[in-house]
Amino acid sequence: MLKIYNSLTNKKEEFKPYNSKMVTMYSCGPTVYNYPHIGNMRAYIFMDNLRRILKYNGYNINGVMNITDVGHLTSDADTGEDKMELASKREKKSPYEIAEYYTKIFFDNLQKLNIDLPNHIVKATDYVDKMINFVKILEEKGYTYKLEDGIYFDIKKFKNYGKLSNKDLNDIGIARIEENTGKHHPFDFALWKFVPDNHIMKWDSPWGIGCPGWHIECSTMSNDLLGENIDIHTGGIDHKTVHHENEIAQNDCAIGHSVVKYWLHCDYLQVNGGKMSKSLGNFYTLDDLEKIGYSSLDFKYFCLNSHYRKPINFTLDAIESAKIARQNLIKILQNHKNSSTKIDSKILSDYKQKFLEAINDDLNTPLALGILWTLIKEENSIDVYNLALDFDKVFGLDLDKYEEKILEIPDEIKELSEKRLQAKKDKNFKLADELRDQILNKGYIIEDKKDGYVLKKV
Ligand code: AMP
Ligand code: ZN
Repeated sequence: MLKIYNSLTNKKEEFKPYNSKMVTMYSCGPTVYNYPHIGNMRAYIFMDNLRRILKYNGYNINGVMNITDVGHLTSDADTGEDKMELASKREKKSPYEIAEYYTKIFFDNLQKLNIDLPNHIVKATDYVDKMINFVKILEEKGYTYKLEDGIYFDIKKFKNYGKLSNKDLNDIGIARIEENTGKHHPFDFALWKFVPDNHIMKWDSPWGIGCPGWHIECSTMSNDLLGENIDIHTGGIDHKTVHHENEIAQNDCAIGHSVVKYWLHCDYLQVNGGKMSKSLGNFYTLDDLEKIGYSSLDFKYFCLNSHYRKPINFTLDAIESAKIARQNLIKILQNHKNSSTKIDSKILSDYKQKFLEAINDDLNTPLALGILWTLIKEENSIDVYNLALDFDKVFGLDLDKYEEKILEIPDEIKELSEKRLQAKKDKNFKLADELRDQILNKGYIIEDKKDGYVLKKV
């Protein structure tokens, strides 16, 4: 039995999907205006883990993730400039080029982390017509009003507004009365925003030329692709109080009943106990980690070693420990792989049972990793190896990739390989071949890959 913590009820609940054959799941995706950082990646490692655990339990998933390439303003609560337009000015590229560039980097990151992707990945700019239709439904049902700068959702018309984060509508401290906005309530939010003529991204609508609001994107896509009864919605905890409250308001008012059954949120990744920011010099991407010797999967191990609902503190000591732990796991598993000794099937099924109980207890991955560590301390056996790889279906840590990923390469070989890569780029194939032979003479085989090479011991 799978239990998950539902942010809507603040309780661990037994997971009972609407349709036991096909789970519907929506995951808030990235705004593609900049390099994704490792905090963002924590949210997708969590999504991946949940998807893998559902599959391990035998469920099929109809999953959606959005790509926000328009509509997300610098403040989540609909003030400021569109993040895409800002990036476009910063980089002197069109917002479409910005979106294409950062979307590619985002998916490269997910691939490095072995993230199991939802079957539907959809862009906001491809959904504008459907978003307009969704706003029309809300308008017909009387939930909207028009201001000088856009069409707004009237939250006081939705009696359950704030149900996810127990928001107090009278809490002026949080609401920060915005003067002269004309909004009926400070929490009212834009469904459609009129934009100035110099805005590059703009569409015609029944209300005038503009852009969709950010929140309407997720309601429209989830309704279009998953229907009116959605099992799971995931995201980072920062989206709980505004973005997801607004999604709920739109969904429940347009459709007429509560749409999402289980809301799941992962907590923050902090750096050295505080917020990650460029100005503090503690802002990391996966590439930054790679440059200082940590693979993306070391970072994934680091995340899975904490529970998704707890804040985690990233430090260089912590990622170093994660790297060593993952390397040791892989090395020890090789000893098991090379042993034909059999292990009592009762012992193995006990491990499997404990593992299942851990992951099914609201995704307790730290405990599940602990069970894996106990398992590999059994006497060397191919059965242990096979069971560990079965567990790795839930982690996606490439625990079977011994040679390619964790071989300690001497500096001399690394230098020769880099020289060879440069020679190839310079189309100096004679030198490249010579360098390959030198590397081979020193005991390493170099294999070319799309973006570089991989080294193996002869
Ligand atoms: P965004 O592109 O800003 O919409 O964020 C993409 C995802 O990353 C969302 O699910 C956020 O909740 C999540 N996220 C952003 N910063 C962090 C962080 N420091 N820790 C964990 N998740 C984060
Ligand atoms: Zn969303």
